[in-house]
Formats: sequence, structure tokens, C-alpha cells
Amino acid sequence: MTQSARVGDWRRPGEEDDIVALSGSNILQPASGWFQRWSDVKNRLVAGSEPVFVGRFNDRDLFVVEVVSEDLRSEDQPIPLREALLSRPDAPAALIGTAVQIQHWWQDHRFCGRCGDQTIYHAVERTRWCENCEISWHARLAPCVIVVVRRDGRFLLARSSRTRRHYFSLIAGFVEPGESAEEAVRREVMEETGLSVINIRYQASQPWPFPHQLMLGYFADYDAGELILQEDELADADWFEPGNLPPVPPSTTIAGRLISAMESEIMTGRAAK
Ligand SMILES: [Zn+2]
Repeated sequence: MTQSARVGDWRRPGEEDDIVALSGSNILQPASGWFQRWSDVKNRLVAGSEPVFVGRFNDRDLFVVEVVSEDLRSEDQPIPLREALLSRPDAPAALIGTAVQIQHWWQDHRFCGRCGDQTIYHAVERTRWCENCEISWHARLAPCVIVVVRRDGRFLLARSSRTRRHYFSLIAGFVEPGESAEEAVRREVMEETGLSVINIRYQASQPWPFPHQLMLGYFADYDAGELILQEDELADADWFEPGNLPPVPPSTTIAGRLISAMESEIMTGRAAK
């Protein structure tokens, strides 16, 4: 790491560059497409906010900004981020999700967590740099596990007590320091349901920008114990059979995809018998 970083060394948007314009928990969709131009948003930024370079896509630079929510133009359509990312097939969901994570990290690290000085652009890397401490504040990623627990021909679905969403989903939680992802699976299932699991097997992952999780999806088999719910985490949980499920998350989420994959695994196993 050198001390070559200076404010403004990093890329700045040009008038016609593409901009992901966020406003609170919404993305501002312009009259067409999903990106604004810098000239459309540059005078409407939240105080203290600045354009942050996301990357180069389709030979164009993409930036993210936060726009003052009272300052919407008539053509701006505020779309909730969850809707844009999960239920709008026309949205470039991966790019928007990346932009959201970068924006949160950038705004949350304007000051050094060690000495309190203002951090600045780094000349080379996407990081916020404290000249005083000579340390970088990289984008935060929080690994989380999410798991389908199988018991013979059924599997466990649970309803969170923390959200008002009506659907059933999977057991999930943050990986803690010093823990492997598999240990986190074992611990989370035990803490939330009182069950022990075996045969923990990795399936797939998904970035989850609410605000900066990386979801690691697993299957596991029931080993022992009876369902005893941790009430501040789960409102309800039960074993369900493929083809006879309560409302579950959409297939744009890793939870939805893991549930479908487990249904297929069980049905295929049945067909093979
Ligand atoms: Zn510092």
C-alpha cells in the first residue's frame, strides 16, 4: 500500500455515463431502462454523498449515487429494491445488487473506524483509505448459511418471527468468527430448532445486498432431536412433502432454488425406487 491516494484520483462520471440512482430503499427507474445519466442526477445528490464507480459494463462506465428522496422528477419511478432484484425480469439484477452493496459500504466508511479521520479514494483499488492509519476499508461481505434439512421424504420449512412476510422459508444465519460454514449450519439449526444434522453438503451461493450478505446454500440430513423453536427467531416450522408446500420464496432467491432442488432430489429418489 502506498500513500499515492488522493481525493479525486478515482474515476469521476462523465455527463453521459450510466448511473444507478438509489433513493432510500428504492431505485429510481427513468422513463426507459434502469440507468440514469450523470447529467440527470448530479444536482440531486444526498448531502455528503458522491458518485461511486461500480464497474465497466457493455463498454460503459457505471456509477451509483444516492438521490434526495424529495427531489424526484416526474419521470422517475421509485421501485423498491427487493422488487427490482427479485421480481422484475427486465431488471439487470446482478448489476443493481452490486451497486447497492458498493453504495452502502462507501457511505458507511467515510470515516476511519480506528482513528475517526475522513477516509479518501484509493488510487488503485476499490477501497477507502485512511492516510493517518495507512489502512484500507474494503467492502464488507457477511457470509451467511441457509439450509434445507431433510428427514426421509420430507424437509423442514420455517416462518420467521422477524418479518411480516407470510411465506415459509429455510433456516439461515450469519457465520460467526472462527467458524466454518458447515459448523454454522450445525449451530444455526440446533439453536433455532433443537435438531442435530449430518451429511451437510454445499449446493450454491447468492449475493444478497440487504445490505451485504453472501448466502451459502446447503442441504443437510436430520440426525436427532425434536422440533423446539427458538421463539424470537421462528414463529412456526414443520416438515413438508414435495408437491404439498406452503407459500415459499420465489425462484429468484436462493431459498426458492434450494427448496425446488430438494423437491427434485426427493422426487427423483422416489422415482428410482
Ligand atoms: Zn485511521
